[in-house]
Amino acid sequence: MNGGSLVLLLFGPPGCGKGTQARLITSWLKVPSISTGEMLRAELRAGTELGLRAQAIMAAGGLVGDDIVNAMLAARIQCPDCANGFLLDGYPRTVEQAEFLDALLLRRGLPPAIVLHLDVPEDALVGRMTSRRQCPACSRIYNLLHQPPKTSGICDDDGTELITRKDDREDVFRERLRTYDEITRPVLAHYYDHTYHQIRGDRSPTYIFEAITSVLEKELNGESLVN
Ligand code: AMP
Repeated sequence: MNGGSLVLLLFGPPGCGKGTQARLITSWLKVPSISTGEMLRAELRAGTELGLRAQAIMAAGGLVGDDIVNAMLAARIQCPDCANGFLLDGYPRTVEQAEFLDALLLRRGLPPAIVLHLDVPEDALVGRMTSRRQCPACSRIYNLLHQPPKTSGICDDDGTELITRKDDREDVFRERLRTYDEITRPVLAHYYDHTYHQIRGDRSPTYIFEAITSVLEKELNGESLVN
């Protein structure tokens, strides 16, 4: 990383494999992965006022207000573990959030984000969603078809019983996809002038991770600035 900071942005529809790739990338690059969705679920579990306000929106597959997530994100990236960079998973999701992030990075002397767009056709997403499971303790994602846990229903890392996220129910999931298409996909256009890379996300996690490492190695060596 040449001693500098690295700001990575993992972009893609719900269920495209962002969580799995975030885990692989962060253990490779040793930078934290920040998921605004996980932060909101943690607020909800802790029963905070913010969590309770976000609950109904999340349960319906909508987006929590920009002011709330922007403030949460700005505070989180000030933590010491972000000193060498960080990966954002699920943020920004609106053009307003993207503009806020640009200004925030500039203000804090951080480099512009490198955008990794995991592109997956909608049919494949709905199929994946029904077989998705998550560990409520460490947030690790499994897929019963392609990435099952070693022991059925139990997290490999900490032995916790896996759950199906409430917003992975088919009706809510379809609403999340609609929100993505209408509000979040247009955010991509905001990044076409920046360091944008599209990566085919309808392959195995190992294949996708190899594609990501090859893109990032070039970026980190300063060889490529556009896909
Ligand atoms: P995720 O775990 O990223 O799929 O997020 C779960 C839910 O949290 C989303 O469906 C939204 O309701 C909410 N959420 C997460 N990140 C954001 C964001 N950047 N902006 C608005 N809402 C968000």
